[in-house]
Amino acid sequence: MNIIMLGAQGTGKGTVAGILSEKLGIPQISTGDIFRKNVKEETELGIEANKYMKNGALVPDEITVPMVANRLEEDDAKNGVILDGFPRTIAQAEKLDEMLAAKGNKIDLVINLTTPRDEIIERILTRRVCSNQACKATYNIVMNPPKVEGICDKCGSELVQREDDKSEDAIRQRLAIYDEQTSPLVNYYEARGVLRTEEVSTKTNHLGADVAKEVVESIKG
Ligand code: AMP
Repeated sequence: MNIIMLGAQGTGKGTVAGILSEKLGIPQISTGDIFRKNVKEETELGIEANKYMKNGALVPDEITVPMVANRLEEDDAKNGVILDGFPRTIAQAEKLDEMLAAKGNKIDLVINLTTPRDEIIERILTRRVCSNQACKATYNIVMNPPKVEGICDKCGSELVQREDDKSEDAIRQRLAIYDEQTSPLVNYYEARGVLRTEEVSTKTNHLGADVAKEVVESIKG
């Protein structure tokens, strides 16, 4: 089964993808995580990608698309994947369709998360992530704090704030790009009959974990 997580930054795509990956036994492929790992390790790809990431801009397709294509070739991806952060433009979605079609596959489900904008900015500013690349657990210092401040519950590593989450300007830039370039994907996938939209909000007490549970139930019947 091939699933895409769609939605603006801070709506909880990573949280939902992580739970679905565990419950469905298929890997979560987060392009943002792959880029951040490369930035940390100072690889050539990381150095190039960081020029764009630090300003909240999209990394060019010449870098992003082959990186995803290579990841899809890995053995653990053969029974399906959960894509988190890709595609982000119609052009990337078309490339993805080609990559999957070449293997006789297609997108089965697109989960589109929506959250009120004021809540999104607050959620991103209070987001903390595990510094251990193999863990990558996500917390929120207000809504979902770790048991011990600054320490990951799961692996004991230090929690950090993502570089691109530190500046409100960069956050607004990422949201503007989402509105312009990524949100047209909602119609793109709706037209194919694979879109499932879910609101995630503290106001309605409907959070990522609830969405993941409902999706797993509907898939497993
Ligand atoms: P994310 O963790 O998904 O918020 O991604 C962090 C940053 O990585 C984004 O702001 C972009 O600079 C870059 N990035 C992640 N996924 C993509 C993508 N599909 N296309 C272009 N840039 C991306």
